[in-house]
Amino acid sequence: MSNKEHKKMAHRLSQLLAGLLTISSLSANAQAQATTASINIYSARHYPTDEALYNDFSKSTGIKINRVDADDAGILSRLKAEGSASPADVILLVDAARLWRAEVDGLFLPIKSKKLEEAIPDKLRAKPTDTGGIAWFGLSTRARVIVYDKQKYQKTDIDTYEKLADSQFKGKLCIRSGSHPYNLSLFGAMTEHLGPQQTEVWLKGLVANLARSPAGGDTDQIKGVATGECAIAVTNTYYLARLMRSTNSVDKSMVEKIGVVFPNQASWGTHLNIAGGAVAKNSKNTENAVKFLEYLASASAQNHFANGNNEWPAAKGMSFDNPALKAMSGGGFKSEVLPISAVGMNQIKVQQMLDRVGFK
Ligand code: FE
Repeated sequence: MSNKEHKKMAHRLSQLLAGLLTISSLSANAQAQATTASINIYSARHYPTDEALYNDFSKSTGIKINRVDADDAGILSRLKAEGSASPADVILLVDAARLWRAEVDGLFLPIKSKKLEEAIPDKLRAKPTDTGGIAWFGLSTRARVIVYDKQKYQKTDIDTYEKLADSQFKGKLCIRSGSHPYNLSLFGAMTEHLGPQQTEVWLKGLVANLARSPAGGDTDQIKGVATGECAIAVTNTYYLARLMRSTNSVDKSMVEKIGVVFPNQASWGTHLNIAGGAVAKNSKNTENAVKFLEYLASASAQNHFANGNNEWPAAKGMSFDNPALKAMSGGGFKSEVLPISAVGMNQIKVQQMLDRVGFK
């Protein structure tokens, strides 16, 4: 080998080596990125059983979850304040009207996901945008039902929402704050069924029937019936199911005292609400954010919603075995069918009515 040739060879070798080094450092980099992949979730789901859900996702994908917990309103105002600098990737809300509002306010990034579109029925997700993206997907549902003191009343006494305003229940009703999203959505739906005038009269009747000033969550209202402070109350089904499945003896004896009604079975059906998720408008990790939403629509996550938090799965064809949900709804129930946009658009009107009738 001549000196010249030797030099050439050495040069080639060093080039090759440099190439190899680049490849190996790239893959090391990719590995580092893979192990530190994370998504930021702003969540209004306030259910301790959900921890298992997040852990399962991280375990199976290696994607770390950072979570910010706040209520729906808090999350929406935070997103607005943060604007394009927002670190949020996934938004989880627990009210259909708030999901709709956030979509209208442009806080979500409409996405295309075959998995989600196949799993979640049309009526439980946003309408597609002009470009075919979908802004949010319902992931579970809950019904807003009436519980009553079995010693004082029977089912037929209180089998409609309208009857909550009957004068025979004067001083007997327990219900959480009127402006809580669960009630705003129920009242927004009532506005669709009865018209605004009738609804305001009805709300006035509710205020006249209050056993105490609205305070606490739905569980507190159920307990109010069980302890005799009130005789009828309004609650989301999963709070009731949680008590029904409790092994605590105090909870058990409370549950024995109360009956449950799925209202309006003979008319428009029981009011249903949706908990759902979306990708945040300014997400920097959209791929992993979509992956997380897809995971929430998977059989194992849906099963968790049904058995861990006593909600009805939103995904199609899910079989689940929750004794409390089965016991309270029997073979199922008729649920109200309303466009979510209509309920959402009524909310400002409802809040004004609540102010006028003094419903705190
Ligand atoms: Fe809740």
